[in-house]
Amino acid sequence: MNFSYGIPGGILPGVVRLVANNPGPFTHKGTNTYLIGSKSLAVIDPGPDDPLHREAILTAANGRPISHILITHAHRDHLDGLAKLQEATKAISMAYGRAHLEVPEQLNSPSGRDFVDLDFAPDVRIEDGAVIEGEDWKLEALFTPGHAPDHLCLLLADQNVIFSGDHVMGWNTTVIAPPEGRMADYNASLSKLLDINCDLYLPGHGGRLEDARRTVKAFLLHRQWREQAIHDAIRNKGLNIRGIVALIYKGLDEKLIQAAGLSVMAHVEHLKEQGFVAYEAPLDLDTEITATS
Ligand SMILES: [Zn+2]
Repeated sequence: MNFSYGIPGGILPGVVRLVANNPGPFTHKGTNTYLIGSKSLAVIDPGPDDPLHREAILTAANGRPISHILITHAHRDHLDGLAKLQEATKAISMAYGRAHLEVPEQLNSPSGRDFVDLDFAPDVRIEDGAVIEGEDWKLEALFTPGHAPDHLCLLLADQNVIFSGDHVMGWNTTVIAPPEGRMADYNASLSKLLDINCDLYLPGHGGRLEDARRTVKAFLLHRQWREQAIHDAIRNKGLNIRGIVALIYKGLDEKLIQAAGLSVMAHVEHLKEQGFVAYEAPLDLDTEITATS
């Protein structure tokens, strides 16, 4: 990934990327903000609330009006810059939105709000299939929950490119952590992308993905394989989530066990939904899980 913070990088005709300076274990080099169009512009994901990033967006716009700000999902590293960017541009905000969704109990805690803006309501709510048009660009919304319940990818039909948000990225598989993440939704949202004849993705973090549907297929296989291993560990060894983490993430740093546990939990929930295992909710690291088939 070739970039410098604050410097717009041309990706395709009418598509420019700016990387916010918020690198980290979940954000890679930082959140990508995209500017679409050449006369009036759409911004995809304003990124964090960082004055330097905002300044870089306005500089890249170079006097052209920003008419729309689209948000892939209400995680703070994508969304928090919205309010001040809207103040500066008077653009309309569009997203699936979050405020209208029910908040699972575990998320409704200070740490839940650390990474999700649970109250986020855009000016205009858009759903699957919505078409958003500017002077010289046209985007279509693709509802792709899984990483987050409100996640949208955006298809720029003219260039045949999908802005894939955090749903599909090249640097790493996305985090599916309950209650925010849901494996059944994630799998369905991956399969949905396979049906769209487009093989160039521009993700929310990291560089562009060429031959993108190969990656999507690999992610689907990876999750199937992982889920099979977890099913086997429950059926053959009677393991709980703590035991499964120890088995499949051998030698994992103590500090990462909770995070790995969430990823395993997403699969165990999915196994239960399919009728393969049973347990009494709420599910945690030490809940007893039994195989039912
Ligand atoms: Zn996210």
